[in-house]
Amino acid sequence: MTTVIDGNETAERIEAGVSTCATTLREAGVTPGLATVLMSDDGASETYVSMKQQTCEELGIRGYHHEIDPEEPASALFDRIDELNADPSIHGILVQMPVPDHIDKADVLKRIDPMKDVDGFHPENVGRLVAGNARFKPCTPHGVQKLLAAYDVETEGAEAVVVGRSDIVGKPMANLLVQYGEGGNATTTVCHSRTDDLAAHTREADILVAAAGVPEMIDASMVGEGATVIDVGINRVDADTEKGYELVGDVDFESAKQNADIITPVPGGVGPLTIAMLMYNTVKAASLQSGVPVDLP
Ligand code: NAD
Repeated sequence: MTTVIDGNETAERIEAGVSTCATTLREAGVTPGLATVLMSDDGASETYVSMKQQTCEELGIRGYHHEIDPEEPASALFDRIDELNADPSIHGILVQMPVPDHIDKADVLKRIDPMKDVDGFHPENVGRLVAGNARFKPCTPHGVQKLLAAYDVETEGAEAVVVGRSDIVGKPMANLLVQYGEGGNATTTVCHSRTDDLAAHTREADILVAAAGVPEMIDASMVGEGATVIDVGINRVDADTEKGYELVGDVDFESAKQNADIITPVPGGVGPLTIAMLMYNTVKAASLQSGVPVDLP
């Protein structure tokens, strides 16, 4: 029998723990605050930001939302980030990506105070992660680590294969799996668009993390017997539905399930963890900035 991971259940458990931390902070006079900044008319980005704001409200974190006209120059965004950096009621800042083409994303990430960088993308925080001394682990790979722990998947000594080398998922995922300590110590291979014979690598994986953004590219022929398959992909494909599309992962679920022992569905797998870990980083940021200790889940 294959175990299908319930990401909603794990996310709710973590969010309950984060909410307790938020209460501890508020009782000490510190209301954790997260600022989201949206500089885009993209419907998906608007949805992501409003989901983050809604979860803040549910967990006792104060959400602040800022919108900037995408036609404005880069200075409008940078000035806003500077204000938020200086505002003591804001502990975490999240600029929703993508930003307009006339703005260099790297400049945006560098502008955010690394102590408020709850996405974990500032070069200082990336460096700390690589050095094995993470301050804010990037939310999606951290969520994957939490899912593996929740389902007692041993990473130590496991062959882990990550498909994808993006800065937000693939690379930090590999960095977490390879670190010393709990949830790490895996023998980690990173595959990408230039990998020769991808299936030869993925079939060797005890833990296979798919983060390529290619709909249903991983099928049973690429999954070894007994593997744990984590599907990070969220891809819109045309479908005969009310919206005209449906969301599918990078894994062909029904096919891969034939070989996998444990597998995540899409939706309801990794997705819910991303927001839960953003809330986690926000209360961690508030705790670090205020000196009020919290017992993170
Ligand atoms: P990206 O496009 O930045 O990176 C994709 C990576 O996959 C690249 O490094 C590329 O080398 C590799 N790749 C592309 N095609 C490949 C192929 N045929 N074979 C092997 N490797 C290939 O994407 P991303 O931002 O890392 O996101 C990946 C997927 O995860 C997307 O579907 C995205 O929507 C999803 N995502 C989900 C969450 C979540 O909360 N669950 C968060 C972030 C991203």
